[in-house]
Amino acid sequence: MKILGIETTCDETAAAVVTLGDEERGRILSNEVLSQIAEHAAYGGVVPEIAARAHVEVLDRLIARALQRAGTTLPEIDGIAVAAGPGLIGGVLIGLVTAKTLALVARKPLLAVNHLEAHALTPRLTDGLAFPYLLLLASGGHTQLVAVKGVGDYVRLGTTIDDAIGEAFDKVAKLLGLGYPGGPEVERQAQNGNPERFALPRPMLGRRQADFSLSGLKTALRIEAERLEPLASQDVADLCASFQAAVVDVVVDRVRVALRAFAGVAGHPTALVAAGGVAANGAIRRALAAQAGEVGLSFVAPPLPLCGDNGAMIAWAGLERLRLGLVDDLTVPARARWPFAEAAPAA
Ligand code: ATP
Ligand code: MG
Ligand code: FE
Repeated sequence: MKILGIETTCDETAAAVVTLGDEERGRILSNEVLSQIAEHAAYGGVVPEIAARAHVEVLDRLIARALQRAGTTLPEIDGIAVAAGPGLIGGVLIGLVTAKTLALVARKPLLAVNHLEAHALTPRLTDGLAFPYLLLLASGGHTQLVAVKGVGDYVRLGTTIDDAIGEAFDKVAKLLGLGYPGGPEVERQAQNGNPERFALPRPMLGRRQADFSLSGLKTALRIEAERLEPLASQDVADLCASFQAAVVDVVVDRVRVALRAFAGVAGHPTALVAAGGVAANGAIRRALAAQAGEVGLSFVAPPLPLCGDNGAMIAWAGLERLRLGLVDDLTVPARARWPFAEAAPAA
């Protein structure tokens, strides 16, 4: 079973071919990603209209290259998977219309994948992980703790009430005059900084619901930064290190609460999983690995290229859906908003 996956929901144009490998894992035959970071960097964030135009310009060539690098052709493909949302609607439409056209012309099943579900299922692609597991999904647009019970069976245990974690990293970077996207820059700076120099708040610590709040932390950092103006390079490094340490503490505390809630909705987890762009952060990965170890759980996080947006995760989610007969018809809509997990019943 070979699935073509197409991703255009944000600022990465991506196409990949994935097949079923050994031990219930996926095998990635090709994984082409073209980031638009350069196009958006001057604006300090993603500009939807620029993103949509950039997807149009490269998508057909990228799909051709993904097929070619996988040593296959469209007639040999078993299904066309595409991220049908959530995301910037212009980009989503471009991917979806392209996928529908290919599915129609080549007479292949269309698999309309939720982008967040694709992040959530990535540890099954990479590690063949069995259900159920606890997922921290953290990216530029989303921060959720989810009990992943099966394909299409997700219970949300917590979410952010304001900024996403990746968004907080991006805003901090912008505030400190670092580049975009902010996460990798802040992490790099933090490596040379003192995490104890600034006593930043740890919002939501100790709360019974596994929710997040990050805007207060970002504001506290801005106040410290303004107090220090002009910033020396060591100040920037110390601010980044202190910010990252606060985020790590918050994440560990929220995951602890979610692990407790997990038992009530899904039993015993097979693992603790981190996915989404923020899962690339080394400090967060190390803290979660240690935390999982303490409670006898394994920790799984995708290799770095599969943390951010990519086509392989879309192809894999499509493969999982096709195996279960969850095929979509050509009327399936593009969705700017598309929650993928049901909220947990109140504790
Ligand atoms: P969506 O929320 O729809 O998945 P997205 O494009 O924001 O969209 P990703 O590409 O998965 O999602 O993640 C990008 C985000 O991850 C950015 O906010 C970026 O700053 C953050 N990020 C990337 N690397 C790191 C890192 N090393 N540390 C912290 N955050 C990071
Ligand atoms: Mg992105
Ligand atoms: Fe994403």
